[in-house]
Amino acid sequence: MEIKIVKTQNKKVKPEPSTLGFGKYFSDHMAMMTWSQEKGWHNARIVPFENLSIHPASTVLHYGAEIFEGLKAYRRKDGGVQMFRPIENVRRLNRSAERLCLPTIPEDMAFELLTKFVEVEQEWTPSNEGTSLYLRPFMFGNDETLGVHSVHNAEFVIIASPVGSYYKEGINPVKIMIENEDVRAVRGGTGYAKCGGNYAASTRAGKRAEDKGYSQVLWLDGVERKYIEEVGAMNVMFKINGKIVTPMLSGSILPGITRMSCIEVLKSKGFDVEERLLSVDELVSAMKDGTLEEAFGCGTAAVISPIGELMYDGVKYTVNGGKIGETTQMLYDILTGIQWGKVEDTFGWVYKI
Ligand SMILES: *Cc1c(COP(=O)(O)O)cnc(C)c1O
Repeated sequence: MEIKIVKTQNKKVKPEPSTLGFGKYFSDHMAMMTWSQEKGWHNARIVPFENLSIHPASTVLHYGAEIFEGLKAYRRKDGGVQMFRPIENVRRLNRSAERLCLPTIPEDMAFELLTKFVEVEQEWTPSNEGTSLYLRPFMFGNDETLGVHSVHNAEFVIIASPVGSYYKEGINPVKIMIENEDVRAVRGGTGYAKCGGNYAASTRAGKRAEDKGYSQVLWLDGVERKYIEEVGAMNVMFKINGKIVTPMLSGSILPGITRMSCIEVLKSKGFDVEERLLSVDELVSAMKDGTLEEAFGCGTAAVISPIGELMYDGVKYTVNGGKIGETTQMLYDILTGIQWGKVEDTFGWVYKI
């Protein structure tokens, strides 16, 4: 594939690593590729970062035809840059595209544009402890008409943002509220697709939880509000009586790459991992009788986020005395160790630029 590269004439000043935060700063360039029904994917390019110009009737602005991905490039001790399982993000992007009737991208094409882009922007990968270059590929329907139909034009864009350490003050377990009013997704809907619309629908519950001093909500299934789904924008796992239990991918849950990686690490360490329906009643009785040993969320941003308190129906339950559990810590150490190149990658997950 031919990728046109136009380098910027005005390189930005890189921000102080201690001020990075999440998604506040953007690198010098962006990658793009255009699709039309007549031409297919064409005009792959890496160009100076700039505002997009779209028609006011563009499909994405009216009917929400948008999907995205999130992954990171990490700076190794030896100075090199690497990514964690990037091909899995390309595959999931295509599964999301299929669900929203957006065009899929041949895997090798999407992978080539992504890796070339990271190569061009690698100097933007910070090197301070816990920092990384967050990559945000996204695609949107871009027809210049208000008619409702599957799109004939789309844009694929990748932007990059240097991000700070998620845990600046050490890993603190979070407080989570179990949500029993709003739902995030239903089976048959778009829960398994990484699309902006899912986020639009989940903001209200997230805000209500935040107002009450909780950092995220734990979602229940959209039909019976009985089964655990995921936590905020992370998948969720529990250690109950020595076994790891995580909700099965039923169609309404986002299939996280961190989730998949946790399961593989846990199995390699000899843990029993059950992917199944887990009801909130089962969870509450495990909290009451003390068999719930650990709980944590997992996703690219935080990697692993221990849960120290769960609130359901006005009752607060403390998990593991509000401290991070040993299995949670073990997963955090192994995954972040592989990602930053400090632990040997026995799984073959790392892609070096
Ligand atoms: C992205 C995302 C996750 C986590 O996926 P990772 O691939 O592990 O980053 C979990 N839930 C939702 C809703 C998400 O959007």
